[in-house]
Amino acid sequence: MVKELGVAYYGNVFPDRAREDIEEMADHGCNSILLALSEYDWIVWKKNVLEICKIAKEYNFTVHINLWSWGGVFGGEAPSFFLHNNDDFRQVISTTGKKVPAACFNTIEFKKYLFDAIEQIAKNEFVDGFFWDEPHYYYTPQKANYFTCRCDTCQSLFKENYGKEMPETITEEILNFKEDTIKKFLKEISIKVKDIDSSKKITLCLVPPPLETGITDWDKCCAYLKNEIDVFSTDPYWLLFRKSLDYVEEYSKKTVDLAKKYNLESQLWCLAFLVPRKKEPELKEAIAIFDKYDVDSIFSWCYRGAEGMTLACRNPKEVWRVLGESYNELKAKYKL
Ligand SMILES: [Zn+2]
Repeated sequence: MVKELGVAYYGNVFPDRAREDIEEMADHGCNSILLALSEYDWIVWKKNVLEICKIAKEYNFTVHINLWSWGGVFGGEAPSFFLHNNDDFRQVISTTGKKVPAACFNTIEFKKYLFDAIEQIAKNEFVDGFFWDEPHYYYTPQKANYFTCRCDTCQSLFKENYGKEMPETITEEILNFKEDTIKKFLKEISIKVKDIDSSKKITLCLVPPPLETGITDWDKCCAYLKNEIDVFSTDPYWLLFRKSLDYVEEYSKKTVDLAKKYNLESQLWCLAFLVPRKKEPELKEAIAIFDKYDVDSIFSWCYRGAEGMTLACRNPKEVWRVLGESYNELKAKYKL
């Protein structure tokens, strides 16, 4: 049964204004918030951001922190101070040696940067958990004959593991290397959280195909991380890929089945940005599909249909209204 209804929230760092927004979320049936915390928000507005978490708890919301776009290896649009300041630790294209705007998460430097922030955030009593949002190697075009990352660190790691030089083109071993290293990275950051406070909930959200993240086998990924994560999640944003609601069906079933198999909770995300005009009723259908598959948690990206943003829905007010209607129906159904 659905226990959690929430939205992603960002773009405001003033606690009194956040209070008004959280009240509006509650009116729309939410009992949970995902704070999309950019590096800028955290580094420049830390005090206010933590105050917003405290306010959300006053409304009995569950508070999840999303390290939004950190290093360009988690999903989202926010810029990265790490990339700005660390040209040396970027991912590298295998055939050209060209650096791309994504940190290499196999480098100690990027991991340390994350660990420092995680350590501070995980100690906060008003934070209930962390959300690993669409972790991925730098997205390369489909059918590209090159890959990322072939930086010095990755080359050394590959040689250590396979006893030979790292190739410049995609091979079976490269695909395995990428899959193993991204999972290892996720395990390390999850263990870091749990070492500080084992009660903090960790949600892993994998983006479904057609995007290629480096993780292809979700079952093996869940098996590998089942002791470190609590919630398995995906975001089947059907309209972005010109898919029908069958796509939502397919990935809702897959996600809930895998979560159950590994004794994890399940979470599904509803598209609430870049929704074309007249497609708003499909959001209600998608949420009904999530419910049909007995998901534990439903979230939407994002608050107010991204009104005013480059990712805004064509009719954000209608999107927000439809979400509120669907959420309030589920809230009544499950007496949340
Ligand atoms: Zn690398």
